[in-house]
Amino acid sequence: MSKRLFIQTLGCAMNVRDSEHIIAELKKTDDYELTDEISDADLILINTCSVREKPVHKLFSEVGSFFKHKKSGAKIGVCGCTASHLGDEIFKRAPYVDFVLGARNVSKITTAVNTPKFISTDINFDESEYAFGEFRSSPYKSHINIMIGCDKKCTYCIVPQTRGDEISIPSELILKEVEKAAKNGAKEIFLLGQNVNNYGKRFSNSHEKMDFSDLLVKISDIKEVERIRFTSPHPLHMDDKFLEVFVNNPKICKSMHMPLQSGSTKVLRDMKRGYTKEWFLDRALKLRQMCPQVNISTDIIVAYPSESEEDFADTMDVLEKVRFEQIFSFKFSPRPLTPAANLTLIDDEVASARLSALQNRHSEILDEIVLKQEGEIFDVYFEELRANGAVAGRSFSNFLVQVNGSEELLGTTRKVKINEAKRMVLYGQLV
Ligand code: SF4
Repeated sequence: MSKRLFIQTLGCAMNVRDSEHIIAELKKTDDYELTDEISDADLILINTCSVREKPVHKLFSEVGSFFKHKKSGAKIGVCGCTASHLGDEIFKRAPYVDFVLGARNVSKITTAVNTPKFISTDINFDESEYAFGEFRSSPYKSHINIMIGCDKKCTYCIVPQTRGDEISIPSELILKEVEKAAKNGAKEIFLLGQNVNNYGKRFSNSHEKMDFSDLLVKISDIKEVERIRFTSPHPLHMDDKFLEVFVNNPKICKSMHMPLQSGSTKVLRDMKRGYTKEWFLDRALKLRQMCPQVNISTDIIVAYPSESEEDFADTMDVLEKVRFEQIFSFKFSPRPLTPAANLTLIDDEVASARLSALQNRHSEILDEIVLKQEGEIFDVYFEELRANGAVAGRSFSNFLVQVNGSEELLGTTRKVKINEAKRMVLYGQLV
């Protein structure tokens, strides 16, 4: 009988992809099968995130609960970003943990499982040329890493401490992976990296010359690929060539994530983001003008320690001008090992009031945006069965659309007329 693996993933799409790599490796080397039952598992893994503070607390409560419910002899492993930054402190705080595997060390999973108290958290370990096995959580789309790590040193961010310096994966490996996924039915390819549009800056061994725009074109040349998405591009690297390929290539979905973080040039400088308010506005508004159907999403941190009322007003100004379709917004939260860790925090009431003001105004903007979608017809790629005979998918510009239908729709692209638009979902019918 094959062994059973329970895996819990916290955090971003990169972590989800790391978990897929872990599952693929364990299936290949030790014939593991997935289970949803902790008490049934021979191996229990948690793949962690440390971008915000909550998941770190969650890690220790989760592994405590795993220990309580696991069957005799089952192993517990901690993987991912928190494993990278806490290292052997995890063994001290949770001695029943069997191994600790950092975010850039995923290819060592089999060794980790088979070596007592194994720990590997080297943030400069180079996995960029490692060919992982194939495992996808969805048969309809495939997430594919194109780079590892990040060279930026944004003052609030722990990622450079957990995922190390930036290395691009050779394009030959990426293209092979895309071809394989697309031939196996994944019509949508989702490219992942911390700064995807800085792709090609540094490779491990080869002297390849390839930038992100060229990579997008090569991927779009693969016949079976119907849609290409990516996250995250960095506003600093949004040059004209990139915008032109994005707008003009018919396979690239028209949704762009542009992480703003702050609308104030002063705060952006303090955060070491590398661009100004004016540059961000220039790029976002040029994109809107070149591609009127584009959806733009963003990340915003309010109440960075040096943020004044005027700085916050700049963030609100960018919100008014760009009218993002989606925002992910948070109060500044200091992370260990980062340059901003010890700065004096803004009063929490002030921070909360700014966050509410931003989110409330964005909700108003979003209501206006979604209302305009009623009566529109979209090409929707269906990916998910929902309760009560509903099927959901994404429009080319990334609206979540739901229709009544059956599983026959899954993996197909159909025209849908929108009857009712809500903030989170557009409801429609096939036409
Ligand atoms: S670009 Fe900045 S925020 Fe993004 S991962 Fe790198 S350091 Fe973190």
